[in-house]
Amino acid sequence: MKKKKLVSIKSSSYDVVIIGAGAAGMAAALTLSQKGVKVALIDREDHCGGILNQCIHNGFGIHEFNEELTGPEYAEKYIISLEKSPVDIFLHTTVVSVHREKKHKTVIAYSGLYGVLSLECRTIILAMGCRERNRGNIGIAGMRPSGIFTAGLAQRLINIDGYIPGKNIVIIGSGDIGLIMARRCTWIGSKVHGVVEILPYPSGLSRNISQCLNDFGIPLYLGHRVTKIYGKNRVEKVDIAPISKDESNTSKTFSIECDTILLSIGLIPENELSKEIGVLINHDTGGPYVDAHFMTNVDGIFACGNVLHVHDLVDFVSEEAKKCAGFVFDYIKKGESKELQGNVSVGANVIYVIPNKYATDTDNTFYLRTFILKNNATLTLTHNGKVIKTRKLIHIQPSEMIRFTVEKDVLNKADITPGASLEISIQ
Ligand SMILES: Cc1cc2nc3c(=O)[nH]c(=O)nc-3n(C[C@H](O)[C@H](O)[C@H](O)COP(=O)(O)OP(=O)(O)OC[C@H]3O[C@@H](n4cnc5c(N)ncnc54)[C@H](O)[C@@H]3O)c2cc1C
Repeated sequence: MKKKKLVSIKSSSYDVVIIGAGAAGMAAALTLSQKGVKVALIDREDHCGGILNQCIHNGFGIHEFNEELTGPEYAEKYIISLEKSPVDIFLHTTVVSVHREKKHKTVIAYSGLYGVLSLECRTIILAMGCRERNRGNIGIAGMRPSGIFTAGLAQRLINIDGYIPGKNIVIIGSGDIGLIMARRCTWIGSKVHGVVEILPYPSGLSRNISQCLNDFGIPLYLGHRVTKIYGKNRVEKVDIAPISKDESNTSKTFSIECDTILLSIGLIPENELSKEIGVLINHDTGGPYVDAHFMTNVDGIFACGNVLHVHDLVDFVSEEAKKCAGFVFDYIKKGESKELQGNVSVGANVIYVIPNKYATDTDNTFYLRTFILKNNATLTLTHNGKVIKTRKLIHIQPSEMIRFTVEKDVLNKADITPGASLEISIQ
């Protein structure tokens, strides 16, 4: 990012302050600035782009740009437009608190470049992304040697800082980051001895199983768990046992010698700041509850991207952020929406639906996940048991987010009692 965008103020006033300059924050900032809104975009890192900067593999941008890009290439497309825009970008700047008084908000941030910043605004977009679950979250028995990394940290060490985390690696969890790292570690000359997954099916995308494990002959131990970690100073080996009837079958335990363990066991939306501001968190997603306009329970505070729910594809992060920005614009121009919204509830086989409400003044795109693995499934939207819309899904699995758009005409023709609940289910 060129220095010309750096601003030299300690206190200023904006229409919108966006916290986080990853894919979500960048797309929201650009959308709003193109509509003439005064925007501040803040990130603690020294570059815009967020997690994209360390994802040097391809597979980004197929929906958004109709071409296959690496993470930094995807980010660059937004960064070039941001540099030409009037958005004030504060890098190396961490938001530490937000103060609210009625509709007025003050964002406090610490910056290596500007000192303490105090930015006044009426609206805030939360776009802080997510963080990785670690060993403490799953409680693996054994010793506490060095050599245990989360997969995303290892990715940053290799792709940005230029370090090799280890030579002989076992990966715990078959999430996408772990799969990508199995291939990355193989490419840098390390030996990946296997990926151990507690579930009977992989957690990552099918294309990553094929391109990151199968193409390199890396074993995937489905329905297995690492039961113990050994090593005094550095990791020396792990014990692995198959699972039968929810228990580790210790009679079939085997060991793999290794010096490094990578954990790819899920992501947690980064909402410590949100909670301090009073934003209500949905335990099914780990992100805020939002209405049909992506506004949280706190008036004037919106959320999008991985801070709201963990996405598998960045294209849908950008799409969601642009939609959110459109609603933020309406809020700034027209004030709080008086339009009656109804709840969207989760029916059979659905883990969560975002947003948590629908509106009849706009097309509604719902983002959801299921906990079943199935071919030829049917997604159904109902109101009081009456079917409003269905969609056939060729294949569904927990790792793949489902997108489902319901046009406002469909809702308006459905004769819905104002403010009544809708339900989304999958069979
Ligand atoms: C390893 C990995 C591989 C992936 N592979 C693919 C792929 O192949 N294809 C694909 O389409 N998608 C992929 N994705 C998904 C996609 O990249 C992400 O979903 C998307 O980039 C997330 O964007 P975001 O803006 O929500 O969050 P992030 O990119 O995480 O951005 C959040 C930003 O907020 C900043 N921040 C947080 N808190 C604060 C604070 N208090 N103050 C200031 N700044 C703060 C952070 O520094 C960060 O820059 C992958 C993701 C990962 C992690």
